Amino acid sequence: MQTETNQSEALRKSLFYERVNGYDRLSPEERDAMEAYCAGYRRYLDAGKTERECVTATVALARAAGFQPYVRGMSLKPGARVYRVNREKSVMLAVIGMQNLEAGLNIAASHLDCPRLDLKPNPLYESEELALLKTHYYGGLRKYQWVGIPLELRGVVIRKDGSAVPVSIGSDPEDPIFAISDLLPHLATEQNKLPLGEAFSGEHLNILAGSRPYEGEPCPERVKLTVLALLNRKYAIREEDFLSAELTAVPAFSARETGFDRSLLSAYGQDDRVCAYAALTALFSLDLPSRTALCMLADKEEVGSEGVSGMQSAAFDTFVEDLCEGQGVAPRVCLERSFCLSADVTAAFDPNYPEVFERRNSALLNYGLSLTKYTGSRGKRAASDAAAELVASVRRILDDAGVIWQMNYLGKVDVGGSGTVAKFMADRNIDTLDAGVPLLSMHAPYETSSKLDCYMTFRGIQAIFERKM
Ligand code: MN
Ligand code: MN
Repeated sequence: MQTETNQSEALRKSLFYERVNGYDRLSPEERDAMEAYCAGYRRYLDAGKTERECVTATVALARAAGFQPYVRGMSLKPGARVYRVNREKSVMLAVIGMQNLEAGLNIAASHLDCPRLDLKPNPLYESEELALLKTHYYGGLRKYQWVGIPLELRGVVIRKDGSAVPVSIGSDPEDPIFAISDLLPHLATEQNKLPLGEAFSGEHLNILAGSRPYEGEPCPERVKLTVLALLNRKYAIREEDFLSAELTAVPAFSARETGFDRSLLSAYGQDDRVCAYAALTALFSLDLPSRTALCMLADKEEVGSEGVSGMQSAAFDTFVEDLCEGQGVAPRVCLERSFCLSADVTAAFDPNYPEVFERRNSALLNYGLSLTKYTGSRGKRAASDAAAELVASVRRILDDAGVIWQMNYLGKVDVGGSGTVAKFMADRNIDTLDAGVPLLSMHAPYETSSKLDCYMTFRGIQAIFERKM
């Protein structure tokens, strides 16, 4: 009887797929490497809170890692490290492989843009002797989360003569910050009856920007005048210059360790700078890869990857074509043999909201890099669905490299859905698989990830870059 039990137990062990907490597999050396990696990731998060700032921070890191700007026609030897910035908002970096580009590329594609509150083109106004800024939210955010929290103002003003004025107010402890007022509970009886999605409208998201009347002879809109006078003194701009500006309000929180055990990280903008940093540092770690490795950090993912700096833009194709031309390779041949890891975050199972998840198929914090075979919603609509063959080859590569990973499916069927840049890569005839870091509070002003998952995403992308697919 005892033997039978042992046999069935042994059979169960050999046949069942059981997920294991990553900490049960993490070596002490990996633990140290994970902490060092996450310290660098936190610095990257604090350095960039807009896609423009992230591009600047990325280029600085790339230059320090031996990358140089790509110039069309440049001859590139195996091991060459180049980058191209697309309109200050997106960046592509490559390490040239030993094989010709006919063998295809290994690509990791992430995005640098995040949900935020953009200032409208004519934002500044005075109401009841207070100065305020009108905003238009960017990306899928829950409006109630953005009131009553400290905000920074970041971005750029381009004067009519083309000169640029970078703006970053709120990150220095000596700086002022900004805020959006919220209704006090004492007067919220009627608002509390409204559905959450209706209680806060876009036109409520007006940012407090000042209250001191201009000192001088009486005139209309003295508070607004004070603000404009300050802006003119500091930046040499006038109200009209807002028309050609990209200014955005972002949460005034820095990246912090979370929990008694410091195992988690909370920060603004982890979707998708967590995967961007992983892809970037994985690329930096390469010396002489077999296939050329390309790290694509796109803009505009949160609004559908549209526009000249989004993943649908031909800027990516142009870069690939330029690299191919340098080797006399047809780009279509390169693309059809390429592989892309669409490195983007997914939802981690949240014990506060188990009702929207199907636990068997949900990503769990600390279970490692999360692969997503398909995204989309309802009948897998708008999904990029990676072929089983592709998933099998990635399983093999990750296991061979000792990467801790898990398979994931976002939420319950018909509860919602999501998308990434994956389908735009697949549309280009590139085999593509979604993979990334599971987050709690995705798209909130403060998102939470696990250090283990962040580090394993770096290790997973590194394994993909290093292996011949
Ligand atoms: Mn994302
Ligand atoms: Mn997102």
